[in-house]
Amino acid sequence: MGQVSIATVVFILLYLYLCKIKEYKNMAQKLPLLGLTLSELQSVVKNLGMPSFSAKQIASWLYDKKVFSIDEMTNLSLKHRELLKEQYEVGAEGPIDAMRSVDGTVKYLFRVGENHFVESVYIPDDDRATLCVSSQVGCKMNCKFCMTGKQGFTANLTANQIINQINSLPERDNLTNVVMMGMGEPLDNLNEVLKALEIMTSDYGYGWSPKRVTLSTVGLRKGLQRFIEESDCHLAVSLHSPLPLQRRDLMPAEKAFSITEIVDLLRNYDFSKQRRLSFEYIMFKGVNDSLPYAKELLKLLRGVDCRINLIRFHAIPGVDLQGADMDTMVTFRDYLTSHGLFTTIRASRGEDIFAACGMLSTAKQEENKQELI
Ligand code: SF4
Repeated sequence: MGQVSIATVVFILLYLYLCKIKEYKNMAQKLPLLGLTLSELQSVVKNLGMPSFSAKQIASWLYDKKVFSIDEMTNLSLKHRELLKEQYEVGAEGPIDAMRSVDGTVKYLFRVGENHFVESVYIPDDDRATLCVSSQVGCKMNCKFCMTGKQGFTANLTANQIINQINSLPERDNLTNVVMMGMGEPLDNLNEVLKALEIMTSDYGYGWSPKRVTLSTVGLRKGLQRFIEESDCHLAVSLHSPLPLQRRDLMPAEKAFSITEIVDLLRNYDFSKQRRLSFEYIMFKGVNDSLPYAKELLKLLRGVDCRINLIRFHAIPGVDLQGADMDTMVTFRDYLTSHGLFTTIRASRGEDIFAACGMLSTAKQEENKQELI
């Protein structure tokens, strides 16, 4: 009995010791400033007893001058910089890996948290350069055709981790457009995504027109309406099949909020002016690429001010779907266009580096698992 008591006491002391170490570690961990909105920066400076105008000064250092350290914020007094540094850091971190395509597309891998990774794809074109940004590590939506969906869900990205993909991109000053179309479902992490969109489109942030930013979603009941009402950015809905049963097979999210309900909701909003509504349609050979599907699309979208982007599918491991032929896609596009639905075929980019999202991060995750075994 006495021996058990001593062992118990030793165990408790060891446990308390480890807790203390963890506490000290957490205390030493500084909070990132990058990714904070102006109102959040105002709270930071208020809590530190700094003048309220310093919130705008910090925002300018972060989003305009894009500094990497608080020491560079030279219009803050030395005392205030030191005060800020006690609890905060800029929180910018460059990519840890990159794969370059022969066509100029670059896929970057960013570390987020201890052992997680997300991808961002930089796509330069003639007069534009687009960055495809991730919003989550993995994804809950489990779309049949998606490598990220196969990873399952790990974590939501913070606004810091979303904005860092732009801020720490080697080509950041060339960017003309951002699409929230990388890993994850943005509406499933809407609070952080809205903060990031605010930073991209506000005067205190990057000051971009909302027309330069597109959010792509499967369409979640909780979130779609809020996004439309709280943001002016473009909206792209992943459609992929006009038939609810088939769409459910391709995209389980259809069960929770069907494409007909999504389109009905979208009919309530005006997309005829600056703001664009588009539908993404991946074409799978022998699945959704014949003219009866085009006719169903016309029926579904009748009266909605929108466009359709047809996307070629590139096979991914373990999935028995194939991409439609280009001739079939052209016929499909021409049919829709001739019936009044503006339709484009999205050019395939970065095929040689598997630009489809989730490939590189899955490989990195597997590599890390192997190292741990
Ligand atoms: S396609 Fe988008 S929503 Fe679907 S599993 Fe992949 S990342 Fe998630």
